[in-house]
Amino acid sequence: MVEKKPQGYDPGAVEPDWYAGWERENFFHADPDSPGSPYAIVIPPPNITGSLHMGHALNNTLQDILTRWRRMLGDNTLWMPGTDHAGIATQNVVERQLLAEGRTRHQMGREAFVARVWQWREQSGRTIVDQLKKLGASCDWVREAFTMDEPRQQAVLEVFVRLWEDGLLYRAERLVNWCPRCETALADIEVVHEETEGHLWHIRYPFATDPTDGLVVATTRPETMLADTAVAVHPDDPRFTKAIGQQVVLPLVGRRIPVIADHYVSREFGTGALKITPGHDFNDFEIGKQHGLAVIATFIPDGTLREAFLADASDEARSRLARYVGRDRFDVRQMVLEDLGREGFLVGKEPYRHALGRCYRCQTAVEPYLTPQWFVRMKPLAEPAIRAVEEGQVRIIPAQWEKNYFEWMHNIKDWCISRQIWWGHQIPAWYCPSCDAGNIVPAAEAAYTILPEVQPIVARDRPEACPRCGGQELYQDPDVLDTWFSSALWPFSTLGWPAQTKELEVFYPTTVLVTAFDILFFWVARMIMMGLKCMGDVPFRQVYIHALVRDPEGQKMSKSKGNVIDPLDVIERYGADALRCTLTALVAAGRDIRLSEERIEGYRNFCNKIWNAYRFISLHVTEKDKDKIIAALQAEWPPPMDLADRWILSRLQELIGSVTEALENYRFSDAASHLYQFLWHEYCDWYLELVKIRLTNGDERAPWTGRVLLIHVLEVALRLLHPIMPFITEEVWQRLPRSTRDAPSVMIAPWPAADSSLVNPEAVQRMERVMGVIRGIRNIRSEVRIPPNAWLTALVKVEAEEDESLLKSVEAYMRHLARVRDVRIGQTIEKPRHSGVVVTSGMEVYVPLEGLIDIASEAQRVDRELHKVERELNRVNRKLSNTDFLARAPADVVTKERENQQGLRETREKLQRHLSMLRDER
Ligand SMILES: [Zn+2]
Ligand SMILES: [Zn+2]
Repeated sequence: MVEKKPQGYDPGAVEPDWYAGWERENFFHADPDSPGSPYAIVIPPPNITGSLHMGHALNNTLQDILTRWRRMLGDNTLWMPGTDHAGIATQNVVERQLLAEGRTRHQMGREAFVARVWQWREQSGRTIVDQLKKLGASCDWVREAFTMDEPRQQAVLEVFVRLWEDGLLYRAERLVNWCPRCETALADIEVVHEETEGHLWHIRYPFATDPTDGLVVATTRPETMLADTAVAVHPDDPRFTKAIGQQVVLPLVGRRIPVIADHYVSREFGTGALKITPGHDFNDFEIGKQHGLAVIATFIPDGTLREAFLADASDEARSRLARYVGRDRFDVRQMVLEDLGREGFLVGKEPYRHALGRCYRCQTAVEPYLTPQWFVRMKPLAEPAIRAVEEGQVRIIPAQWEKNYFEWMHNIKDWCISRQIWWGHQIPAWYCPSCDAGNIVPAAEAAYTILPEVQPIVARDRPEACPRCGGQELYQDPDVLDTWFSSALWPFSTLGWPAQTKELEVFYPTTVLVTAFDILFFWVARMIMMGLKCMGDVPFRQVYIHALVRDPEGQKMSKSKGNVIDPLDVIERYGADALRCTLTALVAAGRDIRLSEERIEGYRNFCNKIWNAYRFISLHVTEKDKDKIIAALQAEWPPPMDLADRWILSRLQELIGSVTEALENYRFSDAASHLYQFLWHEYCDWYLELVKIRLTNGDERAPWTGRVLLIHVLEVALRLLHPIMPFITEEVWQRLPRSTRDAPSVMIAPWPAADSSLVNPEAVQRMERVMGVIRGIRNIRSEVRIPPNAWLTALVKVEAEEDESLLKSVEAYMRHLARVRDVRIGQTIEKPRHSGVVVTSGMEVYVPLEGLIDIASEAQRVDRELHKVERELNRVNRKLSNTDFLARAPADVVTKERENQQGLRETREKLQRHLSMLRDER
């Protein structure tokens, strides 16, 4: 017989319509004048270059759950959306497009290039917003902000000027992390350090006085020797006592440089002599400062070699080395190595693993570069931000992250905020060429280098004239601000600051920030500092930090590994609800999420389960029943009930309590699993089946109760499930007759409140005993392989009178749910020969097997299987007692073998029990 495929729930057919409907009805909009206590969340603004990945899907599902839940609770709820201009990342995208057209931004010029980026932003930069809508995000889209729109520009200007006026900004020449591909400075945390396989090269530097003798230095970057200004040794190193104070001749270049002594040098590293390149190494820069060494910055700004290293070179060296100039630093490395080798200066080479800093946007190796930049003095800003977390004005959840926060904040360094790119907030500082003539050096393509000695004029608007000399020709600083500068203002800039708005008054500080831990410093810490500085209060009361989404093996999802699960593809195939529920169920605090397609399929099946429950109801509630049911829900509440009714209503009250409590404590996965267990198992597997029996039996004792409660329990559970699965809950809820008629949508229906008068622990306990007996009979059926359609006889030996009457009152349930024709219940029942036996809650359940199965051949089969399992178990036991195996096998192989052992033991026990039933051993 071909089974007809049940008609499943079709998310694709309902999700877009519901979303459009909610938006049309303005349900997402927050009005500061609305009643209810304010509850506000600002979205971590996705980059305009982005498209929705699993991290976004998780992050925004959690924010939506909180927002929808608090909205149903009656709070005045705002979920503030927006996007980030993502300076370097976006500039890179558009530059790549230009490259494909055979152009560069320099050919276009700044103004045209920025116009082109805006154009791109209008066309593609909002893709992610549409994708968030597909996910079901109930953001207040009317308020959608952008970190570079007009109001946000006002906020950025205001903060910059205030920081300047308060002495918290300065411009200075510092060695900074420089990306030669992006051609911009990077903040320390924008550099990703990676272990890399490289080499340590040994180079001999001859003494000026005696070229036959010299020092050997070791370096991973031989090309930087061109910019060396000293060699350093440890002052107490006996090998170099004679060398200190002498001069060595820099190979190839011929420049004389001193040998200096510094405690910083490690005697154990390399040869004990360290070449010092203050222009291209952070540690060398510090040493150079203490010894007054010159700084030669020669690989700049695109990573090619400039002439700076030839400053003191002879004409001969100058012409010999001219072929280096203009070449990329890695080409120069090869040329330098070849020349050193040929001239006998290269005396050794060994493999060497070292940490290499790369640009977090383009992975290019970072080059330290001495250049004038803008910095924010962080210590004075960090101090109140540390106190705010210490004193609990901001709570970080889980609390383990507070430790990381404090560690970073206590060791905070000044923040380099200027970037030498074009896409971003241009720094509101101007320079006067007549006052600062010597400090402004014209450079190529109408740009100019502004020396650190210059005196900036910082202002909210372009100044009419120089306040010092009245000159009208002013240059604006060409740099733009680090993209995180504007995101640091996000919680108040989105609410209209610097204007004093009603929104700020009502919604600031916001309630909670939901974010992944990887931007705790980039973003969260800086928002706390800027909030305290500009608003005098923290930007949010709580920070909930969630884990990352990984593949089933715990690996990071990446395109190169090919293990990426695309949320849009999942939504297309399984629906947004299935995706949201999966992510919610998996997000346990502190642990990474291992996402697999099977999991998502499981929650798609959950949708179908709910849908089928609704379909059953719809078959048994006709249009003309509806009024009667609504009357019962309102006036005759609660209806006359039997044990199963009292049980499910009591469990429902507990569910309301446990889901609410889980959400209050950010235990999202608990909320999802309580709902899943209740709806799938208690409601669909038990209650619905029990009511089915009553409906088909035409039970007259409570003709309406089953129908009324099936609807009532589902309606309440749907409201509890709505924040996690907004679409299917709306679809089914709209179709149910219900007492909360006045709400036009489940998303603004009231959050359920538990009715303590319906909590009935006695009914729950009694129902559990009944379910135990029915489960016991079902277990015997499957273990002893009784055909599923065979009718059984069941005998239950009870200890107490109470159990006897309990089971007798639910005989009809037992008959139908365990497929039992004849039930005998009593205190004096004897176990028949050849019976399946189960003990549950002190009651013994017997199922006589004679006539149902061929006992002798079944016993043989089980015996054979038992032997097989024992053989396998012996093999595993031997393996796990082999110390050699335990010592050598990888940990996960051993774990797997242990799990195997445990499983085999359990199977053996089950088969032994089974065999003893068949052989009737007592
Ligand atoms: Zn880069
Ligand atoms: Zn001037």
